[in-house]
Amino acid sequence: MISLEKFRSKRIAVLGLARSGLATCEALAKAGAEVVAWDDMTRPELPSGVSCRDLADENLAGFDALVMSPGIPHTFPTPHPVAQMAKDAGVPIIGDTELLAVAQGNAQFVGITGTNGKSTTTALIGHILKQASKSVSIGGNLGYAVLGLEPQEDRGTFVLEMSSYQLELTHSQKFKVALILNISPDHIDRHGDLSGYIAAKERVFDNQGSDDFAIIGVDDEVCTALAQRYAERRSRIIQISSTRQLEQGVTAVDGLLVDHDDNNRIVVDLKQNARLPGAHNWQNAAAAYACCKALNLPVEKIVEGLLSFTGLEHRQEFVAKVGKTTFINDSKATNAEATEKALVCYDDIYWIVGGRAKEGGIYQLLTCLNPIRQAFLVGESQDYFAGSLVGQLPYSKSG
Ligand code: ADP
Repeated sequence: MISLEKFRSKRIAVLGLARSGLATCEALAKAGAEVVAWDDMTRPELPSGVSCRDLADENLAGFDALVMSPGIPHTFPTPHPVAQMAKDAGVPIIGDTELLAVAQGNAQFVGITGTNGKSTTTALIGHILKQASKSVSIGGNLGYAVLGLEPQEDRGTFVLEMSSYQLELTHSQKFKVALILNISPDHIDRHGDLSGYIAAKERVFDNQGSDDFAIIGVDDEVCTALAQRYAERRSRIIQISSTRQLEQGVTAVDGLLVDHDDNNRIVVDLKQNARLPGAHNWQNAAAAYACCKALNLPVEKIVEGLLSFTGLEHRQEFVAKVGKTTFINDSKATNAEATEKALVCYDDIYWIVGGRAKEGGIYQLLTCLNPIRQAFLVGESQDYFAGSLVGQLPYSKSG
């Protein structure tokens, strides 16, 4: 667990008591901070020394900070009332990643964001560094509360998956290497509009100095414009692509990883690793390569890590082969963009799809339905998705 010694005797309000909120309470209480915590939905058992009180009834002006779970809105669509109270009282609103940044200011940080591929790339970079015997802690949005991670002090590296929500709650974090993999419209409700979403993602580059690296995937329009803008004012920009060759940077067209900043060196054929299928994963791998190279890892070590990565659960995860049918679990493909990337990797697909629809639904997938033999619609979006598929392919609803 991370020591929050620097917050001793501070008065901190914690809103949201899921995994990261509880770890925050524990670390703050251990450090001797005065903590008042609340969650509108649950009453979990709190670490000793933490008071459970509705923050809406408190005078927020008496607190040094409000630590909020990234899932709770503090601006759009409407701020949680406690967030509004904190703003009115001039109390900083932060997340657990900000506490980590302050507590472990001497460590090296890598921050990964983007609309899709964050977890995979975070895990991949973490795996490559570990494989190369580096001291590393991997977490963030990935599922491990950052304050529960192994401290690194000045000996190692934190590899953090940063969602747009977390980036908005992080103010003093300085990433040695910051990556934006791709940007397509997502979570717009929480950021007001697309420009709000892009601005949140761009925060990953805030506080970087001239020695730090910005890695940007240029396979979509938003990021291409972003990369051009940064290239004009920063030197250590590495562009990556898995769809086209670039004059500089790193590409992985058709899986062939090429380092254009090293005499167009052909680094490795990523198709050798079946657990990293498809152009989207090659984008992730190109980003991971560029990041580890920026961290001065020898190319051979990076290649070793790229080839030995076994993938993450729920992301195009091989589940079983029964007769001639392979079962793939891609339940983390929670938007059309991500789903499209997976659909183009296979032939003769029997597609189980559904859940809660996002804006635009599956309309964007109509151009890649060819390999699908049948769709099985599940969850609350059944009728909506059926409306998009009618006349396109056979489908059935689960009732
Ligand atoms: P995130 O953490 O950003 O949600 P994940 O690494 O968990 O991303 O991957 C979620 C799903 O998104 C995967 O199952 C895959 O279908 C798709 N995906 C992975 N990487 C990318 C990428 N670079 N671009 C687009 N889609 C991707």
